[in-house]
Amino acid sequence: MPFKRGLRRKTKSLPKTARLEHERLTSLINSMADAVIAVDEDVKVVLYNAAALNIFDINNIKVGSDLGSLFKPLDHNDRPREVDAMVKAADRPVTSRDLRLKYADGSLINLYISIAPVHLGYASKGDRGYVLLLRDITHEKSLEEERDEFISVVSHELRTPIAVAEGNIGNAQFIASKSGDMDAIKQSLKEAHEQVLFLADMVNDLSTLSRAERGKLHVEVAAIDVKGLVEELASNYQKEAAAKGLKLEAEVAVDVKPLHSSELYVREILQNFITNALKYTHQGEIDIKAAVDPKGVRFTVRDTGIGISKADQERIFDKFFRSEDFRTREASGTGLGLYVTLKLTHLIHAEISLDSELNKGSTFTILIPELA
Ligand code: ADP
Repeated sequence: MPFKRGLRRKTKSLPKTARLEHERLTSLINSMADAVIAVDEDVKVVLYNAAALNIFDINNIKVGSDLGSLFKPLDHNDRPREVDAMVKAADRPVTSRDLRLKYADGSLINLYISIAPVHLGYASKGDRGYVLLLRDITHEKSLEEERDEFISVVSHELRTPIAVAEGNIGNAQFIASKSGDMDAIKQSLKEAHEQVLFLADMVNDLSTLSRAERGKLHVEVAAIDVKGLVEELASNYQKEAAAKGLKLEAEVAVDVKPLHSSELYVREILQNFITNALKYTHQGEIDIKAAVDPKGVRFTVRDTGIGISKADQERIFDKFFRSEDFRTREASGTGLGLYVTLKLTHLIHAEISLDSELNKGSTFTILIPELA
C-alpha cells in the first residue's frame, strides 16, 4: 500500500484520534479504483495510491519526483501535453476526457483526468497543492465513438432512401393531378416501393444486430431441408439477378442430408452472402452450392463481381466497414450485414472463409456443423 507507507512516518507525531482518522482516510484512498495523486505547488508528488501505479504501469513512485517525469499524456492529435503546465493552470477544478497515455509497448489508453487545487496538509512546500484523479476510460470512449458513428451512419443511410421514396411519391401525386399519365405514376410508385423495401431490410438488420449485441438471440435447432432451402433462396433472388443480367444458379450435392442447425440463422447468413453477391457483381454469374463435409454442410456463394482487395478482406466483418472502392459506394449499404453474419456464425459454431480477388470475384464459404 504505497499511500499508507509514504505517510506512516509522518503520522507518528499526530495524536491518536488524528492518526486513526488519517489511517482510515489512507485506506479509503488506497481502495479507490481511480488513481489519486497529490502534488505540491511545484507539481512534485506528495502522495499517491495503489491505482496510480497501475495507471502508470510502474512499481514505485518516488515521493518528491516530478509528475512531468512520470506522466506524459498525449492530446487527441497525439501531441505531447506538458502536465506541469496543465496542473499549474488549474486555478479551479478542471476535468478532461481527451487525453491519452501511451505505454512502452505502444498501446494507448484514453484518460479521464480531474485536477483540483487544494489545501494539502502534507505538502513539502507550503500548504497548497493539487489533487489529480485519473481513470482509464478507453472502454467508455470506444463505446461512445461507436455509438456516435452508428447514429451518423444509420441516419445517413436512412436519409437517401427516404428522400428518394418521398420524391417519387410527390412526383406520382403531381402527375396524378396534372396529366394523369398512369405509366409515369406506376413507375414513380415502383421506385418509391423499392426504397421502402430497402428501408424495411435495413430496419431488420438493425434489430437483429441489436438483439445479437444484447445476447438475446437463442438458437433453435431443427432439421433443415438443405436442398429445399438453397432452391428457395435461388428462386427468391432470380428476378433481381435477371434484372441485372446475371445468371443465378443453385447446386446441392445429392448426398446432402437434412442438417441440424438454426434454419433462421443459416437462411439469414446465406441471404447476406447472396444479396452482397448481387450488389457487387455487374456481369457474369452467382452460384450457390451445398456439399457434404465431415462436420456438417459446406455452403458456398460465389460471384464474378468486383472482388475484395487483400487489405479489405481483413476488415469486411468489422462493424460499419465498407470498402473505399467507388464500385462499392455505388450500391447502398450499412456495412452491418457481414458483421451480423459473423455474430450469427458464432452462435451456430460455424466457420466462414473467403477467397476473393479484385476484379475477378469472391467466394464466401460457410461450414455449418451438425448441432445436436
Ligand atoms: P454492406 O454491403 O452493407 O456495405 P456488408 O457488411 O454486407 O455491408 O459488407 C461489408 C463490405 O464488404 C461491403 O461494403 C463490400 O465492400 C465488401 N463486400 C461484401 N461482400 C462482397 C462481395 N460479394 N463482393 C465484393 N465486395 C463485397
